[in-house]
Parts: sequence; C-alpha cells; structure tokens
Amino acid sequence: MLACTYVGPGEFQLLDKPSPALLHPQDAIVRVTLGSICTSDLHIKHGSVPRAVPGITVGHEMVGVVERVGGEVNAVCPGDRVTVNVETFCGSCFFCQKGWVNNCTHPDGGWALGCRIDGGQAEYVRVPCANQGLNRIPDGVTDEQALLVGDVLATGYWAAGISEIAPEDTVLILGAGPTGLCTLQCVRLFRPRRIVVCDWDPQRLAFVRRHYPEVLTAPPEQVEELVMAHSAHGGADVVLEVAGSPDTFRMAWQCARPNAVVTVVALYDEPQILPLPEMYGKNLTFKTGGVDGCRCDEILAHIAAGELDTVPLITHTYPLSRILEAYDLFEHRRDGVIKVAIIPDN
Ligand SMILES: [Zn+2]
Ligand SMILES: [Zn+2]
Repeated sequence: MLACTYVGPGEFQLLDKPSPALLHPQDAIVRVTLGSICTSDLHIKHGSVPRAVPGITVGHEMVGVVERVGGEVNAVCPGDRVTVNVETFCGSCFFCQKGWVNNCTHPDGGWALGCRIDGGQAEYVRVPCANQGLNRIPDGVTDEQALLVGDVLATGYWAAGISEIAPEDTVLILGAGPTGLCTLQCVRLFRPRRIVVCDWDPQRLAFVRRHYPEVLTAPPEQVEELVMAHSAHGGADVVLEVAGSPDTFRMAWQCARPNAVVTVVALYDEPQILPLPEMYGKNLTFKTGGVDGCRCDEILAHIAAGELDTVPLITHTYPLSRILEAYDLFEHRRDGVIKVAIIPDN
C-alpha cells in the first residue's frame, strides 16, 4: 500500500509498504477513507519532534472503516465507520482513570500514531488500544464532518473545556490557524458574552468574520486595545494561546485581567519567559497542553446536532498518490489553505 513516510530530517517520501497486520488483541485495522495533514506532521518533517522514528508512516488525523479487530476489541466491529484518535490510551492506568489520557503510561500511550508507530497517511492503519482510540461516526455525519474530531477539534474541545468560561466573559483566542479555529468553535459552545480572535494573517481574520460574524478580530498590534475596550475588568477573563510565538505568549498574560485563566494550547519551538515580577499581584492561572482527547463521542454528538462544523476549514483535497504536492501547498500556505483532506486513490 502507499504510505507517506518520514525517511529522515527534512524528508517525507511516498513509499510502497506492506499493509499493517494485527499485532495485539486490542488492535484494530482501519481502512482510511479520509485523512488530513497537520502542522505537527511538518514538525516531524523538520526534525523538531525528537521522538519521531525515521521510517514510520506519518499522519494522525483520519477517519475510516474498521477492517479487522483483535480478540479483545469490543467497542467497534468490522464495517463500522470510525474516527481515529491522535492519542493512544489504555483507559485503565492512573492518568486514564482521571481523564488525563495524554499522560497514559501504556508503552504506546500519548501521541504514538504517525510519530512513534505507523500512522494514517496510508491506505490502512493499525490502531492500538482500539476500544479507546476509535469512535463510531453517527449515521448522518459525513467523513468530512468527522475528519478533525480525533486531533485538532479534540484539542479545541479540551482547551475550551478546561478554561472555566462563564457567560459574562470576554474570551481572547490568539491564533486563527486550524487549531485556533477549532478552539473558537468550541469556545462558542459556552456562549461567552464576547469573543476576540487575534492573528497576523488578514486572510484568516477575514475567514473568522465571514463564518462567525459576532466574533471581533484584530491583528497583534491592535489586540490589547480591542480587548480592553470590550472587557469589563481590565482585560480578558479567559485567554487561549493557540499561536505559539514569544510575542503571543507575552500577549496572552498581558491581555488577561487579574485572576484570569490563561490556557496555553500552543507548542513552542523555544522556552518562554514568565516574568513573575511583572505579573506579581495579577494572580493568573496558567493551564498547559497537550490535549486529553477522550471526549470524541461528545464532539461527534455536537457535530450531529449541528453545533460544531469544521467542513469550511477543509479548503483543499488531494488523492494519497499526490500527498507530497499537498504537503508543499500546506507548508507554504498557498492558495488560502487551512486544512488539506487526503482521499484514497480508488
Ligand atoms: Zn495534529
Ligand atoms: Zn492509560
């Protein structure tokens, strides 16, 4: 089968590999019907994910049809349409019991798919801990609607969920890339009084205004002023930092009111500085990533109810055989790309 493969720093190749086999009674084999490219795939390509294993098939955002299951898989059956979770988690260790599945202690726990073990930019993928890692797609929900559930939408849902958003709040979201836009949709579920989105890219801000006209937008140089004008207590009640630059990290705590929650979703290339003397007395609560992606069933229910819709984020579609062209487009952010969907060739 065709498999987009991390051959070494800086290089992905589309290789012909054997189809995956069941290796463990809790494995499932899924035929990928729709996949996607994530910014984290680019991080692997450029060698900034040290745990990524050369030779692995990349891709951790996909939906498909269950082809075969091991003897201990009872949550799904062959023929089921499913979303695949970016995270592998056992469901029974200390962290899983608390819902902190990102820190699952299973050998494949956390982000393994498409990083430490073969992922889904291929025709088939082996999913370990399949009872936890697969969620059935409700009838009436399309592959396109479900595509982002297991990764970027799970991230947005988790981030909004831990941010203690109240109805009277002004919520600031820094970053309007794919994860920022998913975070925005999930924040809207909590119906805060005001949402402000900041990004340096005018195209992305225009996308936000077109799809969510009630949301205020600003470029970085204007965001602090806009937030102050639209918050009752000297800053945003909640800030979600989804952009990941030194500027946005500083902006996150500067735009926050005293006693605000600042949720850091972003992944940084460098350490960030917390200037505690400057913040003294501000009494901020910081919450940090990564995603505990164990509420995909709730996300799918919101999609089925029409409350979440990430289809407009899918701006381009390529067949698997042309995935390297899709990477080129995505990496260089050409043609207004937000997300690229990858379809099987036949
Ligand atoms: Zn991802
Ligand atoms: Zn676990």
